[in-house]
Amino acid sequence: MEQIRRGRDLIQGAASLVVLTGAGISADSGVPTFRGPEGLWRRHRPEELATPEAFRRDPRLVWEWYAWRRERVAACRPNPGHHALAERALRRPSLTLVTQNVDGLHGVAANEAAARLGVNPGPALPLELHGSLFRNRCSRCGSPQSQPHPVATGPEAAPPRCPECGGIVRPDVVWFGEPVDPAVLERALDAATAADVCLVVGTSAVVHPAAGVALTAVRSGAELVEVNPAETPLSSVARVTVRGRAADVLPPLLAPDPRGPGGRDTA
Ligand code: NAD
Ligand code: ZN
Repeated sequence: MEQIRRGRDLIQGAASLVVLTGAGISADSGVPTFRGPEGLWRRHRPEELATPEAFRRDPRLVWEWYAWRRERVAACRPNPGHHALAERALRRPSLTLVTQNVDGLHGVAANEAAARLGVNPGPALPLELHGSLFRNRCSRCGSPQSQPHPVATGPEAAPPRCPECGGIVRPDVVWFGEPVDPAVLERALDAATAADVCLVVGTSAVVHPAAGVALTAVRSGAELVEVNPAETPLSSVARVTVRGRAADVLPPLLAPDPRGPGGRDTA
């Protein structure tokens, strides 16, 4: 497909690549997106569940919903899209992976690829702009709660208490109306500013400041490559748009150039 070839040429030639992923890349692993036809929010309204106000009003309901999401995601596996990104990051570490996802699948793929290649997974681990479903912290004192907490759903699933201050434990994710960790955002924006190509995969690009990572890259002169079956607000500024599924498109898009380094024919 012509768009994949054009995107691959741009990515191959990039000295510095920033990648922004959203829920769409994990859709192919069976994790529901928020806004697609199968979106989570079709059955649960975000303002009822993913806000600090909702947690104050009914911590048990919100904890239960996250317990259900953790269970669902824990049964999912990275797909060829996650694997292709992880391998590219480990083979050519000039890549910064930034994700809005809280499902941990980029981390699983990074560890699996690193074990295959016998290298450190570090360069393939993502900056998690919106935190992780698999971490908790105290809603009062903020201390990380690393001990495993029960993930049972149903009426017994009350959130645990912080052993230090007695505050209610919450998932370490960024809720609507909450700021992104400024240190994580700064690293993402620095990578975007330095990048000469920005690859955006599976995000509706309507949540800020995450979408700002792609816009910062474009404003700093990067070429944008978008992978999404649907049009987004970023499509109009993309140099290459690949209308396909992440699991199908990323492996050929990130594959080493068959014509050799620099795209020249080696035959
Ligand atoms: P979104 O739900 O708003 O949009 C998903 C996008 O992915 C859409 O543009 C859709 O067209 C596209 N898409 C669907 N299937 C695809 C596929 N197979 N390949 C490529 N693209 C595909 O997702 P978002 O922009 O990430 O929304 C942001 C918020 O949703 C974030 O706060 C994020 O934390 C949260 N979220 C995360 C997860 C997760 O961790 N997997 C799941 C749902 C929502
Ligand atoms: Zn506490």
